[in-house]
Amino acid sequence: MHTQVTCPQCGTPYTAEIHQVIDSDETPELKARLISGQLNIAICPNCGAGGQMTTPMLFHDAAHEMFIVYIPQEMNLAYEQREQIVGQLARQVMDKLPPEKRRAYMLQPQTIISMQTFMEQVLETEGITKEMIQRQQKQLELLQKLAQADPDVADYLIKERIGEIDETFFAMLQQYIDGAAQAQDNKQMVALTNLRAKLMTETEIGRQMEKRQIALHGLNREAKAQNGLSSELLLKHLLKHAGDEGVENALVMAGQPALTYQFFTLLTAEIEKKEKAGDLAAADKLTGMRTRLLKVFDDMQAQSQKLLADAEATLQAILAADDKDAAIQANAAKIDDAFMYVLSSRIAQADQQGNAAEAQALNAIHERIIKQAESQYPPEILLLNQLMEAQDEAAQQKVLDENAALLTGELVQVLDAVMKQFEDAGREEVNGRLRDIKKLVEARL
Ligand SMILES: [Zn+2]
Repeated sequence: MHTQVTCPQCGTPYTAEIHQVIDSDETPELKARLISGQLNIAICPNCGAGGQMTTPMLFHDAAHEMFIVYIPQEMNLAYEQREQIVGQLARQVMDKLPPEKRRAYMLQPQTIISMQTFMEQVLETEGITKEMIQRQQKQLELLQKLAQADPDVADYLIKERIGEIDETFFAMLQQYIDGAAQAQDNKQMVALTNLRAKLMTETEIGRQMEKRQIALHGLNREAKAQNGLSSELLLKHLLKHAGDEGVENALVMAGQPALTYQFFTLLTAEIEKKEKAGDLAAADKLTGMRTRLLKVFDDMQAQSQKLLADAEATLQAILAADDKDAAIQANAAKIDDAFMYVLSSRIAQADQQGNAAEAQALNAIHERIIKQAESQYPPEILLLNQLMEAQDEAAQQKVLDENAALLTGELVQVLDAVMKQFEDAGREEVNGRLRDIKKLVEARL
């Protein structure tokens, strides 16, 4: 919904977007914005002044049976007015839910008047407890102190509060460094960078992080040089760090796709080699690593099986629905890479088995999904798709003729952005075609 705002600074009236209902399942993007403090922000188009708007909000999380309404204290509402707003928001949610999804806890939403308490509850659904938030606040305070402290005070603080200097602390420090760089605050940036260098060498956690970073860097560099990651390569780097669980984990997380049956065959061969050579200590160390990695591998398998099973269930629900488009829309959040993978393999399977009716039904769903996705793309992206799909240059020129109105500098900007994305994803082969398209577009500007 939109609301009329008058800028407190310059008096300009403008409209701002307001969201009052946030649902973990239905609108995860709103929840993410709420958590990062980017929800219900009004910015004056005239002078740029603005900030978070004061508005009631209802938050729903089905998994945690959480149904809470925030009524800002500063709105100074009487009891009846508050109850009225709570009732209205709760009804908005209930009316949208099919009857079978309505639950008893929704009949009595909890009213909260402090934004801090409201956010604590929201964060709890993400597994972030009040204690964790308090710890982070203390860490932030330590970080600010350290950034301004004289060397001897800093030494004292680091020693005194070493327990608070963990990976979260380093992540916060990095954010501050990035912020200072963006604000071109060189003095602050140098101070913070020095602080990080000091902590990296003087704390155990810092030294571990540095070791992990060096190990990861080595793996990435070699993978890039060899045009990709292989089981052999992952093993080679893991062997160098066997027994150091922190580094093992970092390497395996980065090299997940290479953690395969083939990998374990190679590792087992390596262990046998050590045993034959009589180096039992080394064999033991590697066996310990194999046990840990097998656990990671099993977890990964279980996770991907669950993803596939969920995707299969979503597909069945869409297939069973009378109104396919509505079903696709209702399940939009679940239509992800895993879903598309399941859908494509089911189509291939149906084709192979000669099951024409099923293949047709599945293909129809595939088409509807693509159509719905495309209808949300900006026209420039749709035009690029058309140009990529065109058979030859003549066909491309025809597409350009039909879309003369879109041939602007903006299209070139979109092209550059898309090319950058492919470049980052290591898909240079696509960019060759895009560069040719860019030439055609620029020739017409
Ligand atoms: Zn203004």
